[in-house]
Amino acid sequence: MLEDKEQKRTSLDNLGEFRLIEHLTENFNLNHSSSKVGIGDDAAVLDYTDKKTVLTTDMLVEGVHFDLSYMPLKHLGYKAVMVNLSDVYAMNAVATQITISIAVSNRFPLEALEELYSGIALACKLYNVDLVGGDTTSSTKGMLISVTALGQAQDHKIAYRSGAKPNDLLVVSGDLGGAYLGLQVLEREKEVFKVNPNNQPDLSPYTYIVERQLKPEARKDVVELLEKLEVQPTSMIDISDGLSSEILHLSKSSKVGCNLFEDKIPLDPTVISACEEFKMDSTMVALSGGEDYELLFTIDQNDFEKIKGNPHFTVIGHMTEEKEGNHLITRANTKIPISAQGWNSFKGE
Ligand SMILES: [Mg+2]
Repeated sequence: MLEDKEQKRTSLDNLGEFRLIEHLTENFNLNHSSSKVGIGDDAAVLDYTDKKTVLTTDMLVEGVHFDLSYMPLKHLGYKAVMVNLSDVYAMNAVATQITISIAVSNRFPLEALEELYSGIALACKLYNVDLVGGDTTSSTKGMLISVTALGQAQDHKIAYRSGAKPNDLLVVSGDLGGAYLGLQVLEREKEVFKVNPNNQPDLSPYTYIVERQLKPEARKDVVELLEKLEVQPTSMIDISDGLSSEILHLSKSSKVGCNLFEDKIPLDPTVISACEEFKMDSTMVALSGGEDYELLFTIDQNDFEKIKGNPHFTVIGHMTEEKEGNHLITRANTKIPISAQGWNSFKGE
C-alpha cells in the first residue's frame, strides 16, 4: 500500500553480483578500530584484542517474518539490523560489526535494494556498527535477509541467561505489547485496502504502536545506562517472543522460579486503548505478543537503589527457588502458572 508506482526500475540483471555489492555498500565506512578489513577482500579481518567476542545471526523470510505490502523496504533493512543488535545487547555487549546477506527474486529492481540498504545504513550510523561483509544472490521467489552481528565485551561484563539467583529482582526496559498491536493495526488496514485500494488509512492514532512494529529500536542505551549506573545484570535476555517465554528461558537456564506482578507490567497508554479497541487483554498482549526488543534482566537486590525511579526501568517481579515455579500474580492477587504457549494458554485456569 505504500509503494510508489512511479519510481524508476533498474533490472538487477543489468548488474553483476560484484558490481551490485560494490554499488550497495559504497557509502559504508569502517568506524571501529576492531574492523581491520571489511568488504573488498575474501573475508573480513577483526581484532578485539583482550575482549570476548559475541556473535549472533538471524534470518528474515518474506511472507514469514515480514510483509512488504505494509513494510517499507527502508524500515525492513533497519529492522533486520535491530533484531540482531538486540541479541548482542542482551549479552550486555557492545555491537561493533554486522554482515548482511540477501536473496531476491527478479521482481525487485535495483532501486528496491537501494531502499533496503538505506535502512541498513541508517541503522549502522545510529548504532555505530560497521558493515564488514555479506552476499547477494537471486531467489526464485520473494526476499530473504540474513544478518550476522558481532560485538565485544569484557569477560566479566557478559550477561548470560543462566546467572539469576533466588530473590534477584526482575527488571524490564521500556514498555511492552506495542509491536504486536501495531501488527494488528497494519493487518487490519491491509484487509481494508484489499477491498478498497483507494482508501488510504489514517494511522495517526496508532503512530507509537505502528512504529514499534515497523521501526523497532534495539536498547543500546540500556547497556550504556547499566554501565553508567554500575549495575551488572545477573542474567539478561531480549524480548523477541513475548514476556512469558523470555521469563521461562531465564528461569530454566538459571534454575530458579519467578513471581511476576501483573500490575507492574509497563504499558503505554496507546497500548491500553488499542487493546480496548481490539478487545484484547493487555496482560496477554505483553506476555505473548513479542517483537518488542526490550531487555529483560535480573539484578541483585542490593542494586535496587541504583535503578529506583529510573524512567527506563520497571521492576516487574522477583526470582524464587526453582521448586516454586513461575507465576503471574494477578491484580486480583491470584497466582497463575506462566506458560510459553501464548495466547489462550491461561483460559480455563
Ligand atoms: Mg534473543
